[in-house]
Amino acid sequence: MSKSDLQCSFCGKKKDQTSLLIAGIDAHICDLCIEQANGIILQENSSVDSKGEKSKLELLKPQQIKLFLDDYVVGQDYTKKVISVSVYNHYKRINQEIENEVEIEKSNIIMVGQTGTGKTLIAKTIAKMLDVPLAIVDATVLTQAGYVGEDVEGILTKLLQSANYDVEKAEKGIVFIDEIDKIARKSDNPSITRDVSGEGVQQALLKLLEGTIVNVPPKGGRKHPDQNFIEINTEKILFIAGGAFDGIERHISRRLNLNVIGYKSVGKDSVSKTNILKHINPKDLKEFGLIPEIIGRLPVVTYMNPLNKVTLLSILTEPKNALIKQYVKLFEMDDITLEFKKDALNYIVDKAIDYNLGARGLRSLCEEILNDAMFNLPGSEVKKLVVNKKYAEEQLSRVSFEKLKEAS
Ligand code: ADP
Repeated sequence: MSKSDLQCSFCGKKKDQTSLLIAGIDAHICDLCIEQANGIILQENSSVDSKGEKSKLELLKPQQIKLFLDDYVVGQDYTKKVISVSVYNHYKRINQEIENEVEIEKSNIIMVGQTGTGKTLIAKTIAKMLDVPLAIVDATVLTQAGYVGEDVEGILTKLLQSANYDVEKAEKGIVFIDEIDKIARKSDNPSITRDVSGEGVQQALLKLLEGTIVNVPPKGGRKHPDQNFIEINTEKILFIAGGAFDGIERHISRRLNLNVIGYKSVGKDSVSKTNILKHINPKDLKEFGLIPEIIGRLPVVTYMNPLNKVTLLSILTEPKNALIKQYVKLFEMDDITLEFKKDALNYIVDKAIDYNLGARGLRSLCEEILNDAMFNLPGSEVKKLVVNKKYAEEQLSRVSFEKLKEAS
């Protein structure tokens, strides 16, 4: 066969009718057929996506999840480890084939610890890592249906909004319920003091936690009565609850048979006021006033350590998006070099502790210290700002404690 007789084995075009003819073992293919074939491959791949085959979440191993958390959350090693495992198991469960006869149960989580210790931050970081939508809700605004406040379904409206109304995405999202302790019933004895609102909300939440199909108003609540509802299945949603549970130490120490004031020791393990939370278990949550069904649906119980000076200092400077790094970047955008001296950092942390502002206070303190400079320096001749203790003190001397507290 002469060269001019060669033809594409797919469309039959002769060599001189094509720009390119590639030879295989027994056949040839022209450039146009290659393009067409490529189009078919792309189409096939995207249809596999829409069938869900590819929408499985790429799962990091628990140790990798913990490493990711380490970049953003200082300390709290125990909780980070526990959460890494339960998030891993949860998403493994989501990815498992339905026919599998062993059904892995949900590993919803409850984190107990003072406010400002990083509970929300952990939930946010996990959502960021997995690239799944996150809804953060405050349990205190939730009410039973029919009462003034937000219906529990509103939680899913938030999740749906965070997923840009992609139902499939929302159904694999994370809901963080803050201040879950505030809906505890006031007494553990339901026959004597039934705290209707608290328990009612717990019952309503229970349905979501159990896994059910909920009719969700996409625009939220009662202001838009004529909207069409969207069905959301909560089966695959990971729920993380958090709360300070003020006073739960008393229940823990009673269970451990300790004197609340003295905190004696349990065996070899000495129990102090700061670490008594690490003995927390579901019984204490029940004593505190969560109903057993809710506790059963939040099987992973973990605790947060209070933040001490060393941790606060690290929070200020170490995480990937640490406050100081953020301010340095902000100033950099105006070609200004910002430097914090060690004595200034120590001073900020001491103030946060003195005023009992916690980690949230770090931001309001920095904001006050830098506000003048952020107002005056852009566009000026000054190209460097060094913040030492003296400078920080001067700036803060004009601010009232109340203002700082409010901003935290
Ligand atoms: P919580 O939910 O426990 O009340 P947050 O997660 O909202 O606390 O923390 C408040 C702020 O304090 C966060 O935005 C974060 O900047 C900072 N913070 C608190 N704890 C930590 C921590 N362990 N590591 C890093 N930052 C923290």
